[in-house]
Amino acid sequence: MTAQRQCIFRALQGAADHPSAETVHRVVAAEMETVSLKTVYQTLHDLTELGEVAALDVGTGVTLFDPNIEAPHHHLVCRRCGTVRDLAVALPEVRIPEEASLGYEIGSAEIVFRGLCPDCRTAVPAPA
Ligand SMILES: [Zn+2]
Ligand SMILES: [Zn+2]
Repeated sequence: MTAQRQCIFRALQGAADHPSAETVHRVVAAEMETVSLKTVYQTLHDLTELGEVAALDVGTGVTLFDPNIEAPHHHLVCRRCGTVRDLAVALPEVRIPEEASLGYEIGSAEIVFRGLCPDCRTAVPAPA
C-alpha cells in the first residue's frame, strides 16, 4: 500500500457516517495536501474492488463508502440531512420464492430505513 492509499484507508476506517469521496478527500487533504480528488476516487474504487470497503448507494445522490464490511448490517438514512448510520439489528432473512425471482440468482439484500435523525427530530420543521 502506498502512503496515499494508507491515508485514504485510515480516513475511512475512522468514519462511522459513510463518507462520500469528497468527504474522504477533505479529511485526507488536511494531512496530505498533494492528494487529488481523482486519486481518492480511484483508490476508493480499488479498495471496493478488493473488498476492503463497500460502496453504498442509498438514494442520497452520491456514492458513499462503508468501512464496516465484517458485519452484515442494514442502514438508517435521514430523509432530511442525508446522514447514514449502520443499523446493527438482526432481522429475519428476506427470502424470495423461486417462482418470483424472475430467473435471478439472488445473492444478497439490504434494507434501507428512512426517517429523521436525532438532530433533525429536534430541529424546526421544514417548510412544506
Ligand atoms: Zn438528519
Ligand atoms: Zn454501513
